[in-house]
Amino acid sequence: MLINSTMSGKKELFLPIHDNRVNLFVCGPTVYDNSHIGHARTYIFFDVVARYLKHIGFSVFYLQNITDVDDKIIDRAALQGISPRLLARTFEEKYREDMQALGVTNINYYARASEHIAEIISQIGRLIEKGFAYETQTGVYFDESRFGDFGKLSHQSLEDLEKHRIEPDPTKRNPGDFSLWKKRQDGPEVTWDSPWGKGRPGWHIEDTAITENYFGAQYDIHGGAMDLIFPHHEAEIAQMEATSGKKPLVRFWMHTGFLNVNGEKMSKSLGNFTTIRDMLQKFDADSFRFFVLSSHYRSPIDFSESALDQSRKSLERIRQAAKAIEEELERRRTSADEASQENENARAGLSEFRTKFLDAMDNDFNTPYALKAVFELVREVNRRINERSISKESLIEAGQLLDDFGRILGISFSVAQAGQSVSSGNNEDKTGNLIELLIDVRQKLREKKDWALADEIRNRLSEQGIVLEDAKAGGGRYSIKLSE
Ligand code: AMP
Repeated sequence: MLINSTMSGKKELFLPIHDNRVNLFVCGPTVYDNSHIGHARTYIFFDVVARYLKHIGFSVFYLQNITDVDDKIIDRAALQGISPRLLARTFEEKYREDMQALGVTNINYYARASEHIAEIISQIGRLIEKGFAYETQTGVYFDESRFGDFGKLSHQSLEDLEKHRIEPDPTKRNPGDFSLWKKRQDGPEVTWDSPWGKGRPGWHIEDTAITENYFGAQYDIHGGAMDLIFPHHEAEIAQMEATSGKKPLVRFWMHTGFLNVNGEKMSKSLGNFTTIRDMLQKFDADSFRFFVLSSHYRSPIDFSESALDQSRKSLERIRQAAKAIEEELERRRTSADEASQENENARAGLSEFRTKFLDAMDNDFNTPYALKAVFELVREVNRRINERSISKESLIEAGQLLDDFGRILGISFSVAQAGQSVSSGNNEDKTGNLIELLIDVRQKLREKKDWALADEIRNRLSEQGIVLEDAKAGGGRYSIKLSE
């Protein structure tokens, strides 16, 4: 399949680093408030990325960080008179509930920044040792002038970057140097001891410390919305490529366009936001997913209630077709003249809709074209039912196609699925995710040389009929074989 790479600006053939395994990381939220539907746009899209990659046979590990250490969290907690940790945990919980409600069910592991401080300190230490970072009275900074590739993702030269000055601090060598460790004395929950004194990590370093811990120095896909290209993702590249000496950090950088309101990015700072919770009071999650996926992920989308209402109606048309299929099948079951209504010539043809749908998804996750294929299928089936020229087999096939397309997009298309919404995550997905989780826990144990516990996990999975085969050194990590 082809995926657009922000780095090259072109669609490129997607092949994972390790055989069949795809390591996917998407920047998670800073948990100081309820998430809005702009966040939801980005997370719904990457949920579909995971669903589709799994559908075409990849084993996907989808990792997301949770920024639970941040100035915004500390300030908001002070305002509310509660501890920063309590505030962060409260909004993390709400974020997870929101994702569940939206059918974003394919994230295998949420990694909190506060639980990866040792990894962050280790990475900063190595950057200092290699001469890419330096300590001042206020903290530790990355020396942007030492990393020749700085700007390669956002396609900016060092001179261009000089224009975006960030974090004025007279102790820095270059105005654009960004913070890796902030020396602070803000209290126990938000400061940690480090070789550079008490403090807390800068924003960018948490992601590379986390991805290095779970994926190593290089991995397949990194996602986020396009506001993160600079400086956040640029800084991630500098940190990890400088630490490891390996390039590229990420094979495919993928960035979503914004969800806008009246042409302006929805954001907390502009105050033009609708929270996911508020939106779900008025609309159902499937209609919202339909709305998001009706546009290509790299294009902006303009949010309005009337646009969402339109999506609800379009989705209803698909569901009506699914209902008509069921009713027609039921009628055939009970009708005596079933044979006379079967038209064998009309059997062929439905697989073309599967091909169209998959071709669209293979072409950089072109969900609007995939939805077009769904509507073409719906039109064809309605026509054939009305003309009484559809066979029972074709009816069954059409129902199956709608189920499959719905599962890939995380939207309930068929009547049977609606109500026990696909978007709440089917059991197959959840079982797969749990197995992936156990595999990764076991990998961690092996890295810590806890062979006994690692073996116990393997043996107990084997008792359940799930056989793990350890990969050869350097190769893919595991393959899962369901035993007979
Ligand atoms: P934040 O918590 O603001 O760091 O955002 C979490 C994720 O949502 C990041 O990938 C952002 O780029 C993305 N995001 C924020 N606002 C929007 C928006 N209006 N449209 C699409 N994605 C957004």
